[in-house]
Amino acid sequence: MNHMPSWLARPLRSLLASRAALHHALLFSGPEGVGKEWLARSLAAALLCDQPREDGFACGQCAACRWLSQDSHPDFRGVRPSADEPMAEEGEAPSTRPAKVSRDIRIEQIRGLAGFVEVASHRGGAKVILITPAEAMNSAAANALLKTLEEPPPNTYFLLVSSRSSRLPATVRSRCRQVPVPIPPHAEALAWVMAQSRAEEERALQWLAFCGGAPRRALDLGSSDQAVLHRDLVETFAHCEHESLVSSTDRLNANEPRVWVPVLHAWCVDLSRCAASAAPRYFPSEAARLESLATRLDIKALLAFEQWLQQLQRLISHPLNPRLVADDALSRYLAVFEPRRQAA
Ligand SMILES: [Zn+2]
Repeated sequence: MNHMPSWLARPLRSLLASRAALHHALLFSGPEGVGKEWLARSLAAALLCDQPREDGFACGQCAACRWLSQDSHPDFRGVRPSADEPMAEEGEAPSTRPAKVSRDIRIEQIRGLAGFVEVASHRGGAKVILITPAEAMNSAAANALLKTLEEPPPNTYFLLVSSRSSRLPATVRSRCRQVPVPIPPHAEALAWVMAQSRAEEERALQWLAFCGGAPRRALDLGSSDQAVLHRDLVETFAHCEHESLVSSTDRLNANEPRVWVPVLHAWCVDLSRCAASAAPRYFPSEAARLESLATRLDIKALLAFEQWLQQLQRLISHPLNPRLVADDALSRYLAVFEPRRQAA
């Protein structure tokens, strides 16, 4: 990813304009897939760069910039759950991550920073610690971090990135200055996604709609196998009434629950919108099929199913039996249409 989009360059410029008074702990918060980590890393680069540009941005060419881009700058530490190693970008296909590793940021990882924090910087400049996603810190880890945030060492910056900052302990949040990174203006996001993906407007609009306007997520969706997978999943949900449960389950089961559960949830949100005569939010191009399905469903059953999916979304980071989950979810989904079918 090369050229920084305007919605990230603006906050970076204002952070750098007050660099002398930059708070030692910053919390980049906002929806998933807007580029929070990109912004935080760009700030880290600017703080560590040997020859920053006139506007304060990193030069991208000096030794410091090269080391940082290879994650080997001696005055930089990145902290993330072991499940996200190596360097999974925000919004990247979760299926590419290794299973069976921790999705928490553990206390040992925060304690492991002590030596780095206490010792003077290698290159005589700033030291930067990037923690992402910050809400992955378990409570022991957050408490350990808190101690450091309370007594900040000089010229040391903690950059926390979080899509769910409300899950951070209030004590940690209150010691950070918030840097909100909201969904960018639609036209800006659309132009960027089209430029990066070289996709037609209609497709870029579909990706953005599904991702709630978050451009990095939309780009990831469009520029990987995810777009095809996404299409397949939508077909499964639109058709599974007419298929056997076993074959629909097979189709879902080809992927991990954390890949398809959010798509099914978004699909159901749109079904309930259509049942209430509202336009679909995530699948505008599927309006006709959604509306047709919406005439045949039981709205109470659908809302209950949506709640069940929400609970499931919280569990999908834990080890589950994927086939059982797929089977259970599809049976429940089909049951949403059952009462009407029986009455007919
Ligand atoms: Zn540089």
